[in-house]
Amino acid sequence: NSTREWQALDRAHVHPFTDHAALHKVGPRVIARAEGTYLYDSEGEKLLDAFAGLWCVNVGYGRKSIAEAAYKQILELPYYNTFFKTTHPPAAELSRTLVDMTPEHFTHVFYGQSGSDANDTIVRMVKSYWNLKKQPKKKTIISRINAYHGSTMVAASLGGMSYMHELADLPLPGFVHIRQPYWYGEAGDLNPQDFGRLCAKALEDKILELGAENVAAFIGEPIQGAGGVIIPPQNYWPEIQKICKKYEILLIADEVICGFGRTGYWFASEYYGIEADFMTLAKGITSGYIPLSAIMVSGRVAEVLTGMGDFAHGFTYSGHPVACAVAIENIRILKDEKLVERVHSETGPYLTKKMQEFLNHPLVGEVRNLGLMGAIELVKDKKTRQTFDPVGDAGTICRDHCFKLGLVMRATRDTMLISPPLTWTKADIDEWAGLAKQALDLTAKDLGV
Ligand code: PLP
Repeated sequence: NSTREWQALDRAHVHPFTDHAALHKVGPRVIARAEGTYLYDSEGEKLLDAFAGLWCVNVGYGRKSIAEAAYKQILELPYYNTFFKTTHPPAAELSRTLVDMTPEHFTHVFYGQSGSDANDTIVRMVKSYWNLKKQPKKKTIISRINAYHGSTMVAASLGGMSYMHELADLPLPGFVHIRQPYWYGEAGDLNPQDFGRLCAKALEDKILELGAENVAAFIGEPIQGAGGVIIPPQNYWPEIQKICKKYEILLIADEVICGFGRTGYWFASEYYGIEADFMTLAKGITSGYIPLSAIMVSGRVAEVLTGMGDFAHGFTYSGHPVACAVAIENIRILKDEKLVERVHSETGPYLTKKMQEFLNHPLVGEVRNLGLMGAIELVKDKKTRQTFDPVGDAGTICRDHCFKLGLVMRATRDTMLISPPLTWTKADIDEWAGLAKQALDLTAKDLGV
């Protein structure tokens, strides 16, 4: 097929509700293959992928050993379920690997196929937990504005993006949202510490408003990803943790993006000292080579849930053997190539340094990153932090310039997001910085800045 034919097929059948052509003036770019950190489109044009697919291709594209692990497993046992009083070697081995590598208090794993269904499942576990504890009133789950936890009805209810709620009558009853710890955009004159305390106090205020006896859990991404790489002040999570303990509220850390080395720590929970009752894992668990998610369950919660006997919940593909085999090989690569250590001590700090240089650019109000998860925030007025009107214009223009220049970055509102494969070297960061600078210059020109 030619590019035009692929585009026509996409337009006719793939995105029934989104017309790419109308949105972007041309049809979708057809991504045909990938190698390392580069994507190649159907016209043979090369793009530097500074977004690791969708925050997920942590070990980079084209890993033959992952393909071999999948191939071998397909021949050995392509499928079997894990609930006919049965298990299989890949699920058992991956569970041990995950329990060994996650914070010590996690003892059990439940598998799904996406971050959305994992979060959905956690809600079911939370409800079961409180019913088993004979506290059935504890039902409400607190999340945050601008959070993203997935797209199913429950995961989108956990999420705090109003445009995802409007037409679907969401959030479902029993899901409420408090403010996000977005220092640059919302702190006014407060320093990060005071702002961190204020945002954590919003949780306590909400618990007191609802009555602690009615609150089941709090969920948060250690660093909000899709919301714009919102890196909370250092004291935020310890305060949240204290409040959850004080009022007996379960804590869920959604590490779908942050997990598997993205921040230079295996899990961002380690960086912030979060001791969650549940941890949601997906994306980097297989570097996106095949769908898989995992819920880490703490020993204290697992003990109660085990009391229910059969957990009447599971998917045909829970613990899919091929997905587990891929995850095992992916984690081996991350460990053997010391990619997380490299992000922590070399490429993460180097990205910080390169991003700081962008602060000289007339459009750039703030830069922030932890490891290889970062954001460049574009503003109309750097002094007052005034945003563009309408919000989102500058980000869209910049993202489109990146694309034309052969660079993939995502824009959330007017914030440019970076989340490359963890295999990036300093040279890759230099290449990215050169292209990003060009895109910013072209954006400034378009906006007359
Ligand atoms: N949680 C977070 C923090 C995410 O960023 C995402 C997806 O981007 C999800 C959950 C949902 O995961 P999935 O798209 O695999 O359903």
